[in-house]
Amino acid sequence: MKHSLALSTIVASAFASAIPANVQQHIQRRAANPQPVCSFEDHTFDDSNAWDRDNITPAIPKRDLGETTWNPPTNLITPLKEVWDHEISTYSNALGFKNYGYDQVMAAEGKINYCVRWEGSTKVTAEQRTEVKTAIRKQFNKWIAVLAGFEGFPYETVDVNVVGWAVNDASILEGDVSTIEVYTDKDADGIPQCAESCGRFFHQDGDYSGCKAGAARHYDQSLWLTPGFGGGAGGDWGQRVAQEYFMENINAENIHIVLHELGHTFALDDFYDWTPTGVTNFIMNAGSAMEITEFDAWMARDWWRNLKANRGW
Ligand SMILES: [Zn+2]
Repeated sequence: MKHSLALSTIVASAFASAIPANVQQHIQRRAANPQPVCSFEDHTFDDSNAWDRDNITPAIPKRDLGETTWNPPTNLITPLKEVWDHEISTYSNALGFKNYGYDQVMAAEGKINYCVRWEGSTKVTAEQRTEVKTAIRKQFNKWIAVLAGFEGFPYETVDVNVVGWAVNDASILEGDVSTIEVYTDKDADGIPQCAESCGRFFHQDGDYSGCKAGAARHYDQSLWLTPGFGGGAGGDWGQRVAQEYFMENINAENIHIVLHELGHTFALDDFYDWTPTGVTNFIMNAGSAMEITEFDAWMARDWWRNLKANRGW
């Protein structure tokens, strides 16, 4: 991976409704340090410099996730409490924010639609588009699998589909495009994005009446594939990784940077400045694990049980 992009703490507040295109300049991390200065409800974690792919130690795959109520393994009780307390004290409005992955899955009743933001000029075949859909569906459902059946989480799987592709030019999409919406819209920085009128990020009230493709073809998440992108970024709007990384790993069981960024979509934090007691290798500790671990699972379960109580699900 490239490591040339410097982490900057510059925070710009322009474009009140735009997904931050340059995360180096738009750190909307919902944490106190640095304090997010933008007023809009965005949730972005910048992992630009997070990964050294030569340095990953596979996580111990042990996962005893049969518990259906809050009863984590004894050795995880303390670190889980540390993580929760840290999140509650550092996120700007931890429980008041209402666009986490959990909110989206519940609002959409177990069906999540994606827009693929395909930057650059590399052509994409219909077969590749099918592979992209299969891959993001599989990775998304790895988080769902650790929530299924826990404290009333109602879905065994989530029906993930790609409804739209956003490209610089329609000719980039080769083959049959009859099953997708093709967008050449651009964001404020000139980067392809699907129509804002169809996006959950822009319409968190669920009103997609302005979406030409129809409300059923709205999108909840963006899978943003940028040539040469360093590391990743993730948030309530979706996940951003290098286009080459995603395509090279498209058939991998665990596309670990995507799994990490999806963890942010599901409200989980980064661990660049501290690590909880007794746990070292887990997907949200960037570069320390290749798959969702038992600790990651219980961190997500903690969010679910707390949001469930807060939202009345
Ligand atoms: Zn991260």
